Amino acid sequence: YDVRISEGSNTRELNELIVSVNQLAESLGKQELLRRQLTADVAHELRTPLTSVGTHIEAMIDGVWEPTNERLQSCHDEILCIGRIIQDLENLAKVESENLKLDKAQINLTELSEKAVGNFEADINQKNLKVSIDGASSDIYADQNRISQVLINLVSNAVKYTPQNGIIKIIISEDEQFARLSVNDNGIGIAQDELPYVFERFYRADKSRNRITGGSGIGLAIVKSIVMAHGGIVEAQSHLNEGSCFVIKLPKNRME
Ligand code: ADP
Repeated sequence: YDVRISEGSNTRELNELIVSVNQLAESLGKQELLRRQLTADVAHELRTPLTSVGTHIEAMIDGVWEPTNERLQSCHDEILCIGRIIQDLENLAKVESENLKLDKAQINLTELSEKAVGNFEADINQKNLKVSIDGASSDIYADQNRISQVLINLVSNAVKYTPQNGIIKIIISEDEQFARLSVNDNGIGIAQDELPYVFERFYRADKSRNRITGGSGIGLAIVKSIVMAHGGIVEAQSHLNEGSCFVIKLPKNRME
């Protein structure tokens, strides 16, 4: 929006200024809309499990339902789900706060990837997924806990959105400036018109399909915030029913 008006400004410059002011107003309007959408989404995400627990417990108090173990377990699951959403929100607020403090040290992406995959061993075995980690990069200077969180979120999605017997490949490489890590899967994929929004908070591609997987749409927003805080880049490619590829690029050197 860098348009300056001087005495000699002509109509073209004034028009440019008008366009810039309009763009600024539009962008502020969009931010306000996003903020309102966010509040509505949080309310919705919390209400769904809460309503379910409420109905279950009411039916048991009224004696309509026997308080069987199964029903109590289902209430417990919903409460855990609410807890996860709150935890995600807290994590997101933390990484989105402007003064996100990074505790940087030399870290190794292959080691962190192995650990991230290890977290999902049970699901990987249960779905009989084939997971590989290939390539390498020299150590990078980054916040180990935060980058672990990034890898866990990406691997978690690959595991969640890849059906039985699927293949997940983590590929690591580097160029002069950046270390590059991609998480590739041959799962359900994302439609082209949804792809640009997947890094937005609470965005969940294909709402009906996703309700079953029980995520909250915050994981990729956290990934983006952490990678950007490191001066890095996130990218996603995907084709519906073919698979997805999420890429992060992180600067290798000390950047203060
Ligand atoms: P969620 O908790 O819903 O998984 P994320 O922010 O991690 O939230 O992801 C946002 C949305 O992007 C998901 O709801 C899903 O629709 C889509 N998505 C993310 N990763 C993948 C993947 N590997 N394959 C297919 N869809 C994905």
